[in-house]
Amino acid sequence: MDTRTPQQKDIRDLSYDELVQYLEKAGERPFRATQIFEWVYKKGVWSFDQMRGLPAPLRKRLSEDFGLGPLAIAQKQVAKDGTTKFLFDLRDHEKIETVLIPTATRTTVCISSQAGCKFGCKFCASGIGGWKRNLTTAEILAQILHVKEEAESHKKPLSHIVCMGTGESFDNYDNLLKALRIVNDERGINIGARRMTVSTVGLIPKIMRFAKEDFQIELAISLHGYNDASRSKLMPVNKKYSFTELMNACREYIKMTRRQITFEYILIKDATCSEEAARELAKNLKGLICKLNLIPYNPVREFPHKPPAHEEMLSFQKRLKTLGVHATLRAPRGRDIAAACGQLRHMQKSH
Ligand code: SF4
Repeated sequence: MDTRTPQQKDIRDLSYDELVQYLEKAGERPFRATQIFEWVYKKGVWSFDQMRGLPAPLRKRLSEDFGLGPLAIAQKQVAKDGTTKFLFDLRDHEKIETVLIPTATRTTVCISSQAGCKFGCKFCASGIGGWKRNLTTAEILAQILHVKEEAESHKKPLSHIVCMGTGESFDNYDNLLKALRIVNDERGINIGARRMTVSTVGLIPKIMRFAKEDFQIELAISLHGYNDASRSKLMPVNKKYSFTELMNACREYIKMTRRQITFEYILIKDATCSEEAARELAKNLKGLICKLNLIPYNPVREFPHKPPAHEEMLSFQKRLKTLGVHATLRAPRGRDIAAACGQLRHMQKSH
């Protein structure tokens, strides 16, 4: 539980350099920052009292100045395949979802970047109640620390981070990137940048800013349409940043970074997997260094869509292949829990 007074910051809001500055001001030696990072991010303690290697007066001072508590867990669901979904209740009682996804080869956490979302994609539960606020760096890191603890309790070290939960990652750019730098820092959680993926709905100015970062995180684009008209039907953001402009920005991003982009593409019956869709998609992705993930639609009560039959998905994938596009069909995870993005949070609100 977050029991901070209004004067207390959360220590996880501080970068390593900011922590060093704080310690120097407090008359402490800078190497204490490395020790504190180790306790918080490697050993995963939730209170300063547990930092046994630190002198008692410093522990006392830290607990007067900062908070370091866990997030309150409102709900936890475990699917048969091990997918574990947490619903966290934040200090102001906004709820956020975080998911642990274990597979044979990796252990991934899918984090939220905002409470709610302002982009209102017409297939996503996260956008239904609108946007509430950005998450702080500390709230983003605390989600990861909870899931890391859960994964390690099953002897599965956390290996990958994906920012594909509630919210638009690039709409909370600064807080998210600050958190991911701490995740990447070898004194912090120490997960390689290539093992992290940030997903965006296509905010072009932020994509160009991201291209200039000295940080090799993978970029995923929620495409979900095969041209301007089809994308506009599902994603209101397409009116501001059109499909055509987005594809041009992606070409520019690849030119600048020499890194591939992952495109996420939702499969909705009678909407996104027609012959026209396959042809247009193949035409628009031609020449791009990219991966294409096909995601079967996970039904949300408020929307009329249905997922296509499995055979239809396979034949769409096959058709793309004949057109020169290699696409991966994502296996549904956690089907027996509310695993679609934002569903658990939304269900809590509407009950
Ligand atoms: S898909 Fe992403 S951007 Fe769109 S409403 Fe859901 S959370 Fe927001």
